Amino acid sequence: ESLVAAEAAVDEQEIEAALRPKRLGEFVGQQRVREQLSLVLDAAKLRNRPPDHLLLSGPPGLGKTTLAMIVAAELGMPLRVTSGPAIQHAGDLAALLSSLSEGEVLFLDEIHRMARPAEEMLYIAMEDFRVDVVVGKGAGATAIPLEIPPFTLVGATTRAGLLPGPLRDRFGFTAHMDFYSPAELEQVLRRSAGLLDVPLDRDGGAEIAGRSRGTPRIANRLLRRVRDYAQVRADGVVTADVAAAALTLYDVDEAGLDRLDRAVLDALVRRFGGGPVGLSTLAVAVGEETETVEEVAEPFLVRAGLLARTPRGRVATTAAWSHLGLVPPPGNGA
Ligand code: ATP
Repeated sequence: ESLVAAEAAVDEQEIEAALRPKRLGEFVGQQRVREQLSLVLDAAKLRNRPPDHLLLSGPPGLGKTTLAMIVAAELGMPLRVTSGPAIQHAGDLAALLSSLSEGEVLFLDEIHRMARPAEEMLYIAMEDFRVDVVVGKGAGATAIPLEIPPFTLVGATTRAGLLPGPLRDRFGFTAHMDFYSPAELEQVLRRSAGLLDVPLDRDGGAEIAGRSRGTPRIANRLLRRVRDYAQVRADGVVTADVAAAALTLYDVDEAGLDRLDRAVLDALVRRFGGGPVGLSTLAVAVGEETETVEEVAEPFLVRAGLLARTPRGRVATTAAWSHLGLVPPPGNGA
């Protein structure tokens, strides 16, 4: 069974890769970011030099990896992909940096999770295109400076505020990615439906978009589940009714809340009387990592007006109580 699950996961990844826009012109929404990026890239091409390092910040699934790939494609340069957690020692980073070719684009996902000593090495590499390789141990250790070819770093983080100032300052350009509007998500869905050959009608697209939490990755994932349902339980066409029935089956409610979102709200309201409650207490109550609650569930719950972050902790809004079909006690709810 796990083999089947693993195959399905590979399949999903392949589909996700197939749906990735390859060029800036295909990238839906994020108009400001797109315009800024297009200017930065055109200027670099004009000068025939690698562009400034770029930092992309925003919740998961909004297209940071996709944009990094587009940057490389638009520059006609190779792309190297790694992530903060994969860089545990400065030596890992030194090896990686010294193997880059001139002009290569290095995508460093979850850059805020890199080990501290590697972070310091990265500042220098970004600024001076140099790494200091330490040879020997103890009193006899010496740092040998090693030139590396000019490259472009594309860093991605869920929140720019998680990065230490000195690192943040070395990016020439920071793009903040925001959640997509329902209309933009419909556009993403129409594009994906075309590529996957799924008959999607207008209302079907709107129904899925409304449940996609402002996130293209979720929209694409929901489209695939709805397609399964349409093929097996209906005539293959994705209408609003088919989409609603399929997504209810998969535990995605009308507001787009999934199991984790609802668990967070439920704990907040039923176990902590609507709060305020500290983030880590809330995370323990739903059996998740603090980071998952903070970066995956919360941004959307805050944006949907269901949860408020206050100095004393997380608070359920009046809308959260009614979303769960409850009435807040008097004087409760933000
Ligand atoms: P993470 O930070 O978790 O890696 P991400 O922000 O890098 O997430 P991507 O992997 O780039 O997200 O995008 C997820 C999926 O959403 C991709 O398969 C891509 O097809 C789709 N997608 C993202 N942004 C867009 C967009 N602007 N237009 C069309 N499709 C998009």
